[in-house]
Amino acid sequence: MASNPNSLAARDIASLIHPYTNLEKHKETGPTIMARGDGVYVYDDSGKRYLEGMAGLWSTSLGFSEKRLVEAATRQMEALPTYHIFGGRSTEPSIELAEALLKIVPKGLGKVLFANSGSEANDQAAKIVWFYHNAIGKPLKKRIIGRVRGYHGITVFAGSMTGQVANHIEWDLPIGGVLRTDCPSHYLFGEPGETEAQFVDRLVGNLEALIEREGPETIGAFIAEPVNGAGGVIVPPKDYFPRIQEVLRRHDILMIADEVICGFGRTGQMFGCDTFGIEPDIMTVAKALSSAYLPISATVISEAIAEKITAHAGKIGNFAHGFTYAGHPVAAAVALETLRIYEERDIIAHVQEVAPHLQARLRALAAHPLVGEARGVGLIGALQLVTDKASRTVLPAAAGIGPLIQARAMERGVIIRASPDAVFVCPPLIITKAEIDELMDALSAALDDGL
Ligand code: PLP
Repeated sequence: MASNPNSLAARDIASLIHPYTNLEKHKETGPTIMARGDGVYVYDDSGKRYLEGMAGLWSTSLGFSEKRLVEAATRQMEALPTYHIFGGRSTEPSIELAEALLKIVPKGLGKVLFANSGSEANDQAAKIVWFYHNAIGKPLKKRIIGRVRGYHGITVFAGSMTGQVANHIEWDLPIGGVLRTDCPSHYLFGEPGETEAQFVDRLVGNLEALIEREGPETIGAFIAEPVNGAGGVIVPPKDYFPRIQEVLRRHDILMIADEVICGFGRTGQMFGCDTFGIEPDIMTVAKALSSAYLPISATVISEAIAEKITAHAGKIGNFAHGFTYAGHPVAAAVALETLRIYEERDIIAHVQEVAPHLQARLRALAAHPLVGEARGVGLIGALQLVTDKASRTVLPAAAGIGPLIQARAMERGVIIRASPDAVFVCPPLIITKAEIDELMDALSAALDDGL
């Protein structure tokens, strides 16, 4: 693939360690080098066009050629290209972005801490849980409950809250301080004959038992994505979150909603919290906050928490936490412009208009011999791949089926994502119905090719 040592591909292989890549295999296959973008499409360096059915990494909500974001970045670069918000300094974009966020987040949330990535926002959420419990004189109430298949990032503590084996083995994670509870997929984890309502009862009972066994006085928070993304696009049963949250409230355990994928319209409402009836004490956002044009994330906390940590910082003389680039003015200006575009173009109404088409096309594939379940909400969805519908599993002979379907779709000019036994779609929010057809036609043809 990379016989010319001066080619970009050869230089890539010689110089880069790629995230989430089989590094040994990459030496043979080399990279796909993306060169430019236009709307929902990206073009590689040979000129081949791909419909980006994953919005990059579940993130590029406004597509790959939104001029207003480029202009917002340029304006801010020219005015003040960088500054920090430590020690009481501030910048107009960081103030305006915090205000704009607070206007749209669920009620009760009242202050914003900026960071640069989803992992950092979640790490920061955990640290706020710890600092807050010190502030209110409950220094033992620190452990955090994560869920099987939850994904919260890869920094040391976000990676520990993440509930995926691949992020733990060989990385010496999780470190202490994390408890784990169930994943709410009825299809994957329901017992034979168990109804969805019984399944939710069981999960709620398991959570209650875990809290009682470990001691509620040692547990500070519960973290969950409204819809698990990387863990399989798991859409929870309707009453799952209200029931879970009732247990948490009773034990005085904070709810952290990880909206890194779901935030800003993905599920058909502004936040996954709105779609699933979650009332978070802490919410984290990233990705679509800036349409992923620049790295920026935020941890949004309740007024009640903000009050206590402010008083505590006053008492000890400092709030000794913060990233150099937190609230970076250029990233903040781009994020602010992104939020303005969502409002002016009513992105939520657009998602509500086109999402039923994506969901209908996904559901139509449920009858396919290789599909066990088609699931999704808004503009995010998955096909659970099976080679044995009765046991809901992929037989060993068909291992690698997800990546195979993904590779075939890519040959057809469509980018989707795969796990060993599922494929995912999460297109830019600006996608049209015709583009949804192009995406789904390629996915269905890739399935029809069989194994
Ligand atoms: N939380 C969720 C739900 C995510 O999907 C991701 C990344 O995909 C993260 C957190 C971590 O974000 P980042 O990769 O920006 O650190």
